[in-house]
Amino acid sequence: QPTVAIIGRPNVGKSTLFNRLVGKRLALVDDRPGVTRDRREGEASLLGLEFRIIDTAGYEDEDPQTLPGRMRAQTSAALREADAALFLIDARAGVTPLDEEIARWLRSETTPVILAANKAEGKAGESGLLEAYSLGLGEPVPISAEHGEGVVDLFEHLRPHVEREEEDEPEPEDENDRPLKLAIVGRPNAGKSTLINRILEEERLITGPEAGITRDSISIDWEWQSPDGRARPVRLIDTAGMRKKAKVQDKLEKLSVADGRRAVEFAEVVVLLLDATLGLEAQDLRIADYVLQEGRALLIAINKWDVAENHSQLFQGIRAALQEGLSQAPGVPLLAVSAMTGKGLDQLLAAAFEIREVWSRRVSTGQLNRWFEDAIERNPPPAPGGKRIKLRYITQVNTRPPAFVIFGNRLEMLPDSYLRYLTNGMRKELDFGAVPVRISTRTSR
Ligand code: GDP
Repeated sequence: QPTVAIIGRPNVGKSTLFNRLVGKRLALVDDRPGVTRDRREGEASLLGLEFRIIDTAGYEDEDPQTLPGRMRAQTSAALREADAALFLIDARAGVTPLDEEIARWLRSETTPVILAANKAEGKAGESGLLEAYSLGLGEPVPISAEHGEGVVDLFEHLRPHVEREEEDEPEPEDENDRPLKLAIVGRPNAGKSTLINRILEEERLITGPEAGITRDSISIDWEWQSPDGRARPVRLIDTAGMRKKAKVQDKLEKLSVADGRRAVEFAEVVVLLLDATLGLEAQDLRIADYVLQEGRALLIAINKWDVAENHSQLFQGIRAALQEGLSQAPGVPLLAVSAMTGKGLDQLLAAAFEIREVWSRRVSTGQLNRWFEDAIERNPPPAPGGKRIKLRYITQVNTRPPAFVIFGNRLEMLPDSYLRYLTNGMRKELDFGAVPVRISTRTSR
């Protein structure tokens, strides 16, 4: 795993930076006796770059004016493990003799060094930043660990050292062992309660429903026995309409009514239920749009298929109307079901698990940028005023839903239509389908 060691004299802000990069994922303190002292390590995440980080703050000696042998030995050990050293100085204090001593030592080591001038927010750090060039470690990166500034710069300097050229990352846990958080929404009388009852009563349910409360929504946990023989946990997130006839009615009725919006917020996958006898209406499109805006994976199911007529015409009609009315999610999965007879329910659940997988997917930076460069070559961004907008690279900063950041210059001139071009291309060529994909832009140096 790529590793970065934070190095610097006391009080330059090493721990603040460590905490910012590690966030809540604060990990282990290595306490092997004699090897390390108060060593802090964590899993850092910086705009989607994931790496291990070692904070050497614990190696400091009482006397901050010297670089004692032990600190040096310990820091050396960290450095040997590291792919890069992040050397921090205090931009407000300027370069001190101890900084110079550390710099001299780092220059004699083989580990690549990224020099960062911390506390650089505002004007007070400007002269310190200039002084930092004198350390002979290249261009200093101005950051403010406390205020979270300089993140993009830091990212750009660290990226070459810590990026892994790998396959698509495996999911950290087996997705299928984690309950699928599912909400079912739709207009009144679309058949939501009927569907839920049908699922909970008969649909190859291997454990009975358990009602519970997740923060402020109500959920029902159960396991779906999928046709491939696997038991898959599902957590149905309650909507106002759904508990009408639910088995778990008694427990639920006492609780406050959680509305559909809440359910959408807590869900991973949302099924929008249509009524086959009514077709697709404006209200349905509004709900679908809301679900996508919230970044949830959307499935659309046409219910009451048992009483519908002209099946294929109806299906094609709704498909076409969605293409037109829901152009932000071309190809959203459309299924036909009957809550009454149980038709199509296995397919619906299978599709829900499938789309969650896509929604949770992480594309490797390598694959992503190969696609990106190709997409730009095929259709270069415009050059307003004769000056080309420069798009440098793209990184995936999040999953669930997938979110990406493009780094470049003159991005304020980039038309929305170009971002749409990239979003649509990404959907098709990187197989995100109708999953809501978010792309934003950041100016790089
Ligand atoms: P909700 O308001 O969305 O929860 O809708 P309900 O589940 O209360 O259903 C509204 C009406 O549609 C009820 O009379 C149901 O019996 C009926 N219904 C629901 N699903 C189906 C279905 O698949 N086929 C048929 N024929 N009727 C259904």
